[in-house]
Amino acid sequence: MTAPILATIPFNRAILTGRELENIQQAVETMHLSGDGPFTRRCHALLEQALGAPKVLLTTSCTHALEMSALLLDIRPGDEVILPSFTFVSTANAFVLRGAKPVFADIRPDTLNLDETRLEALITARTRAVVVVHYAGVACEMDAILAIARRHGVAVVEDAAHGLFGCYKGRALGTFGELATLSFHETKNVTCGEGGALIVNNESYIQRAEVIREKGTNRSSFFRGQVDKYTWVDVGSSYLPSEILAAFLYAQLEAGNRIQARRRVLWTRYRQELAAWASDRGVGLPVVPDHCEQPFHLFYLILPSLEQRQSLIAHLASAQVTAIFHYQPLHLSEMGRRWGGAPGDCPVTERVSDGLLRLPLSMGLTDAEQERVIAAVLTAP
Ligand SMILES: *Cc1c(COP(=O)(O)O)cnc(C)c1O
Repeated sequence: MTAPILATIPFNRAILTGRELENIQQAVETMHLSGDGPFTRRCHALLEQALGAPKVLLTTSCTHALEMSALLLDIRPGDEVILPSFTFVSTANAFVLRGAKPVFADIRPDTLNLDETRLEALITARTRAVVVVHYAGVACEMDAILAIARRHGVAVVEDAAHGLFGCYKGRALGTFGELATLSFHETKNVTCGEGGALIVNNESYIQRAEVIREKGTNRSSFFRGQVDKYTWVDVGSSYLPSEILAAFLYAQLEAGNRIQARRRVLWTRYRQELAAWASDRGVGLPVVPDHCEQPFHLFYLILPSLEQRQSLIAHLASAQVTAIFHYQPLHLSEMGRRWGGAPGDCPVTERVSDGLLRLPLSMGLTDAEQERVIAAVLTAP
């Protein structure tokens, strides 16, 4: 007898929620394929409404929305920007591209967010901005962070790539910083493959954000009839996505409640089924403080050591389950070391990065697949 062949369970499986192809067909039929057509406008309105934000602009990626933030804040060579070492490279790169020095902050051991109690000590006369990341969509301690930033005249940018539909004390993530960014990459809760958005909360940046996004021209004002010709008025680049992507994204955004409800079921089941196993073995599970509403973006385990983490990944792989780690601490990366990053600078980041693995969690994960993932974890040696 041969054992049944089981397909490998992917870490992430994006699926259609219903209207994506219909919307794309409509965009193609009307032949408005470039950016800022009807579907882009609908995405903007839906996000502004859902978040309670004054202005949302779709971008080609979260990375590009972060680059726009650095341009809007006029970040220049010699400026310092504080951000967690435990994040994706784009959080740093967008500011480094403008010549800023990244200053890496350590994270809290519970939420894995920038440790606000260590923030003030990192601020110098050159600090221009703090970029916070709501890891797994669980909010940073925004009251404390905003108070420190205000005291020192430093801007706050939220990298809310994980945070769409998350809240801090009842208010949507992405509405706290003067600027905030979202990602619609395939691995995020709501996707169009590659995409993002800039959230502009400080209204004095709105007009310049539109110009920077449109190649440094006042094209947006021209189309609103506010100027009689459009011309080059500022620096900028091409940061707006095609209508075809916006058409796909609008379908996903409209299905937001359904996506979130499914992710909640999967996340909660992992938590219930793995709690006793984790506590027996000293394995950490996600911590969500009562004042944070999370969007169920990630379910992770923190193993006590790198060796145990690697052996669990190998065990899961042998059971056809894809579990993956992240982030390599930025301060220890090849780039991070150029600014003097060294082992021991961010001890919590270094420990978490060694121990953390993420289990499959996506709209496309079936109940049967999740049962296989859980069984594989519970039978790990
Ligand atoms: C995914 C991600 C990004 C980058 O998003 P893109 O849309 O792929 O550019 C940035 N920051 C964080 C924290 C992310 O998880």
